[in-house]
Formats: sequence, C-alpha cells, structure tokens
Amino acid sequence: MRRRIGFGIVVAGATALAALAASPRAQTSAPDWRAVEDETLRHYQALLRLDTSNPPGNEDLAAQYLKEVLDKAGIPAQIVASDPKRSNVIARLKGSGRKRPLLIMGHTDVVTVDPKKWTFPPFSATRDGGYVYGRGAVDDKDNLTAALMTMLLLKQQNVPLDRDVIFLAEAGEEGSTGVGIDFVVRDHFAEVDAEYCLAEGGGVTRKTGSVAFATVQTLEKVPRRIELVAGGVAGHGSVPLKSNPVVHLAGAVARIGEWRPEIRLNETTAAYFKRLAQISPPEIAKYYRDVLSTDPAVQKAADDWLFENEPRHSSMLRTSASPNIMAGGYRFNVIPSQATATIDVRLLPDENQDAFLDQVKKVVNDPTVEVRYPTAATRPSGMEARLDSEAFKALEAAVTRVYNTVTVPTMSTGATDMAQLRGKGVQCFGIGPATDFEDGPKGFGAHSDQERLLESELHRFVRFNWDVVTSLARVR
Ligand SMILES: [Zn+2]
Repeated sequence: MRRRIGFGIVVAGATALAALAASPRAQTSAPDWRAVEDETLRHYQALLRLDTSNPPGNEDLAAQYLKEVLDKAGIPAQIVASDPKRSNVIARLKGSGRKRPLLIMGHTDVVTVDPKKWTFPPFSATRDGGYVYGRGAVDDKDNLTAALMTMLLLKQQNVPLDRDVIFLAEAGEEGSTGVGIDFVVRDHFAEVDAEYCLAEGGGVTRKTGSVAFATVQTLEKVPRRIELVAGGVAGHGSVPLKSNPVVHLAGAVARIGEWRPEIRLNETTAAYFKRLAQISPPEIAKYYRDVLSTDPAVQKAADDWLFENEPRHSSMLRTSASPNIMAGGYRFNVIPSQATATIDVRLLPDENQDAFLDQVKKVVNDPTVEVRYPTAATRPSGMEARLDSEAFKALEAAVTRVYNTVTVPTMSTGATDMAQLRGKGVQCFGIGPATDFEDGPKGFGAHSDQERLLESELHRFVRFNWDVVTSLARVR
C-alpha cells in the first residue's frame, strides 16, 4: 500500500467548503460532501462495470445509464447517435444567458483489455486498498463521473446560473471519433456550442504521495502520418543492386530518426517550462530555463538533455517524427521492388502541413523514395485556449483551493476530442484527478492492465469540478 496524504485531503476539503461559505456570491448551501461521495462512487462503479471496450464500443450501455440518471434528477437529456449502439448524451442546465455556455464532457468508450492480465477483472470496479480498479478508471470514466456529479449537484442545490452548463458524454474517443465527437460537432453543434469546455487531458501529479503540481491542457499537437515508399527493380538476392528499396528505405528512415525539427515555442509551452522550472529541483530546473534561452547553443544543450532524459518534453518543443513501421521483402533470396515505412508525425498546431512534408522530403533526400501523407488529418488544428481567460483563472484558483498547488498549462503531444471543439472556436481545457507519478511506470496508468484511481482522489476531483463550474457559471 502506498502512502496517502490524509492531511492534504482534509485541509483541501475544508478550504474548499470555507471558500464557498465565505464567498459573497454563495447563494446556495455547499453540498453535503459525505452524501455526495456515496453517490459519486455508485455512479463511478456502475459506469466502470459497463463494458464499453472500443472496438466495438457499445457506448449505448453507458448512454442509457446516464440518461436514466439525468432523467431521474429532472435534467433534460437527449441521446444522439449515428449508430444506435454507439450513442452520445447531451444534457443542459439553463442559465440566464448573460454569458455563453460552459460544456463539461467525458468519453464513454474505453480501450480493449486482455482479461488474463488483470488481477481484478477489468469490468468489476473492484475496491481494494483505497483504490478502484477497472478499465476506464482514469480514462475517462473519472472525468465522466465528475461531470455527471457536477450536473446533479447544480440541479440538487438549485444553483442560479449566468450561463448554461452543458454535459456531453461522447462515444468513440479511442480511435473512432466518427460516431462521437465528429458526429456531434457536425450534426449537433448548436446543442454543444460553448464559450469554454472542460474535458480530459490534464491532471494533478503526486510524487511520493504528495501533490507536486497540476496541469491544465490548453493545446494539443495534431497527429498525421507520413508514408515513405521506396521503389526499385526486383531481382535475385545473389546479385546486390544499387536500387535495392530496402537499403534506400533504411537510409531514409535513419535520416528521419536522427533529425530533430526546429524548436518552436508557443504561449502554452513557454509558460509550461517557465512554471515547471519554478517548482523543480535546481539541477533539473536549469534545463527547463535553458530551452527558453535565445542563445541557440544553450537551448541545444538543454534540448539534447531532454531528448535523452525526458523525451515527452523534447516532443513538446517541436513537430516530431517517429518512424514506427517498416515493411519490405518476403523471402531471403529476392530483392523486392518496394519497401514502405510509416512515420508518426505530431505537428505543432500552427505548423504548415505541406511545408513540413517538403522538409521531410529534403531530409530523406532520395529520389527513389516517395514521401506523402496517405490519409487526411483526423483531428483539426485548433486555437490555443487563452491563459488570460476567465476559465483559466477559475481553474488556477480552484487548483489552489482544492489542491493547494501550482497550475501548469500544457500542450499534449497526443490528441483528444477537444481538437474538434477547438476547431470550432471553443476554448477547451483538459483536466483530471490526482494520480501518482510512480503509478505509470508500475503499470497502473491509463490503458494499462491494472488501471486504477484512488477513491479519495476521485472525490477530491468532484469537489474540484464543482468549484470550477460554480465559479464560472454561478450568478454573480
Ligand atoms: Zn481518454
């Protein structure tokens, strides 16, 4: 069992309650958190027990559950679907309309499981040692539950709102957005259109049991794949050929692998490294400060260190290209006429995609190797959520009240459903509960075979959601 911080939890809870009670705009009583915790756990476990593995998804199981809960609470909810087995839920609490709506969301699908590898069955939602185990525990039935609880609490407490609060539970986030966010944005955008949205993508990092910092995702990279196709003349393996496509492809892949595209910072990543430097031990903080340096030699040295020691940070500095698949040849004594490679490219949101392809062609520098985008982009590039917005300020204030730590804005190297909303001009912020930094490498993280979340952190996350949403939407 790992060390827990009872101290932090009690104090943070008390602080949040005190803040609400002391606020001049608190026109309703604070929720009875003890009773809220029972209800939170009930919904969280119920959702974890629904097998919404994608593929095939079957998210309608979760959609029906959510609709029933919302209906019972008297919150108008509708199910929308392009495929009846893969439905989405949209619900709305009306405000005065003085401000534009706030959207809170979570996806209902989870990645598939290999049940043999799980200690506790993946859809059992087993409680053990203070944790709840199950597929989706931290991706994304935690955010889904917190958003649902916030809706229920707003209704129960009859909180007067300055803006509508919209709830969206979307299907297909894990690789089939066509039935989920793409469909919702295409056919039902008016029902989810908002000034701000809150979704997965951030979180609070605990190190050795104590909260270290909170991240709020304000931007994400754009995934794209590039294909390399080397062509030559087939022949007998006993007679090596200069045109052998396997050799040409290997050279091209090696050059891409050694290439590090130019560093380019944006508002989010500049603030990220600056704030991270402020809370890191001096020997590490030096690198975070140095990547912001205008001296190319200083920046390069820091970049080299990050690439070796903290590769995610190196990826945040640039558009990245990782060669991940190679295919060519089918028997040992035949020189094939073709060999292909697939490069996973994660573009900075403002990257010119055609110009980047030209850069890759220059790096490959081989006329026998064709370089192309084989498919269209699956996620649009959207605008950065602003750090001077009311929403970011509310998030920062809630992080201070509930977690008593610093907020660090981040750009994800991976992709989320926020991309589609940002593409339509909604300012989106990624949040998440506190998890242990040590849990990931030990195999307890998202998509792992022992996905889990501390119950106490689920409850704290619900209080955090409540704090943020009431600060942004409650009548002032
Ligand atoms: Zn997710």
